[in-house]
Amino acid sequence: MKRLLLVVLVVALAIIAYGFSRWTVWGREARFMAGGALVDAGYGLQDPIEAYDFDHRSELTPERVWQEVLEQNQRAAAMRGRFPRTPHHPLVALVVCMDSRIDTNELVGDTRHYYYVIRTAGSVMSEREQEMLELAVRNGVKLVVLTTHSDCAAEKTAANPEARGEFPALAAAVDEREVRVEEFLRRPRIASALAEGRLMVKRATIETRTDRLLGE
Ligand SMILES: [Zn+2]
Repeated sequence: MKRLLLVVLVVALAIIAYGFSRWTVWGREARFMAGGALVDAGYGLQDPIEAYDFDHRSELTPERVWQEVLEQNQRAAAMRGRFPRTPHHPLVALVVCMDSRIDTNELVGDTRHYYYVIRTAGSVMSEREQEMLELAVRNGVKLVVLTTHSDCAAEKTAANPEARGEFPALAAAVDEREVRVEEFLRRPRIASALAEGRLMVKRATIETRTDRLLGE
């Protein structure tokens, strides 16, 4: 009941903010904040529902999980079809580990997708990701944020001799993460964009539990 009241309150505030957003900076800011609160309200409604599927009539096989993915996608895509998103050119590129606990919308406090996201195991960039980032910079990205995060399974694997034997490629990738970063910074187009002040590359650690960015 409390959650529902919160949602109603946030919706009312959002409507008011929407009205004022056309004319004033604070109106636009209030609308942005209200939008964020609505997203949080949505997370709050969905998050405590622990069972992956809502009915347990059948065993949760991989096929059943796939069907659930399709059903949820159909509902989400229908909404997107009805309310298309405004296209924005990204200004930010994030490199983030594939850990499911990290939510990149929360990371930037923004659902407008003013950012590219590259997610890899252990936040390691291969040459492919480096080229993708270079392409993004050529297309107008002004800030690249290279992140790692606390409680990273890839880092733990690399630090454990037994696990290293089981997942040698992953361990080797984590070992060479810093070398890959240096390689990226030395790429001529990236180096000149940095030197000319057209680009900034920041390093940050993500506190996995809160999605808080801790800059270096
Ligand atoms: Zn990780």
